[in-house]
Amino acid sequence: PSSKREGFASIPNVKWEDVGGLDLLRTEFHCHIVNSIKYANEYEASGISSHTGFLLYGPPGCGKTLIAKAVANEAGANFIHIEGPALMNKYVGETEKAVRTIFSHARTCSPCIIFFDEVDALATKRGNEGAWVVERPLTQLMIELDGGNQRKGVYVIGATNRPEVIDRALLRPGRLGKHLYVSLPNQEERGLILKAVSRNKHLDTDVDLIAIARSEACANFSGADLAHLMNEAALAALHEYISRTEAAATAHEGKSVSPSQSFVPARIK
Ligand code: ATP
Repeated sequence: PSSKREGFASIPNVKWEDVGGLDLLRTEFHCHIVNSIKYANEYEASGISSHTGFLLYGPPGCGKTLIAKAVANEAGANFIHIEGPALMNKYVGETEKAVRTIFSHARTCSPCIIFFDEVDALATKRGNEGAWVVERPLTQLMIELDGGNQRKGVYVIGATNRPEVIDRALLRPGRLGKHLYVSLPNQEERGLILKAVSRNKHLDTDVDLIAIARSEACANFSGADLAHLMNEAALAALHEYISRTEAAATAHEGKSVSPSQSFVPARIK
C-alpha cells in the first residue's frame, strides 16, 4: 500500500547518511526523540520531560520530510505521513474524525512519529479568512496533543513553509512546542548534501563535489535542487555511456554489449 495512505504506519528506510547537513536538527531529535525511545526507562526515571511536539519551518525542499523519516528510522519508530491539505479536503466532520483515528492508530503502533506536512492547512489562525473551516479539526488536533500520558510514545512533527499563519495556540509548549528552522543550505552544507545524494551512485574520480557546492550557479539551491542536479547528471552520463556502447557495438559488426555488465559513471561537468 502507498505510504501516503492516511494513517499508514511503517518504519521508513531513510538513513542518517541520506541527510546532508542539518546537524543542529539531528542533535535536537537525537536528544528528544531517538534517545527518549531507546532509553525510555532512564528518561522516565530522570523525571525530565523531553519535547514530543515539533514544528519544522523554512523554505521548500530543504529536508524537513527527509529528516523526520531519518529520525523514525534511527529510533526504530513507526512513521505516519499526513498531508495537511488532503486531510482538510473532506466532508464536514470527517477531518476531526480522521485526526482522532490517526492518533488512536499511532498509539497502537507506538513508538510512532506522526508527520503533518503543510500543517498550516489545518491550523490557520482563528479569526483569519477561511479559519472557520479549520476551527474544529484544529481543536481536535490540540485535544490529541494535550492527551498527556495517553500520548506516550507518540511524537508529532509538523512542517510548514508559512509558520506565520499558524494559530499560536498550537505552538505552545506541550503541543508543537519546539520550533526548528530548516534553512537553505550554505556552501559547506551543499557539499554535504551532494555527498549524501550521490551515496548510491558511481562517481567518476574527477567529480569534485566541493567545487560544485562552491559554484555560483548553485548559490541558492535547496537540497531538492541539488538532488535533482545529481539525478540529471547521472542520467546524462548514462545516456552518453549507452550511445558510446551502441556505437561500439555497431562498429563491431552488430555485437551488442550490455550496459549493465560494466561500470556506469556519473559525470558532472
Ligand atoms: P516541502 O516543504 O516542499 O515539503 P521539505 O523541506 O519537506 O519540502 P524534502 O521533501 O525533505 O523537503 O526534500 C525533498 C528532496 O530533496 C528529498 O527527498 C531529498 O532528495 C532532497 N533533499 C532535501 N534536503 C536534503 C538534505 N538536507 N540532504 C539530502 N537530500 C535532501
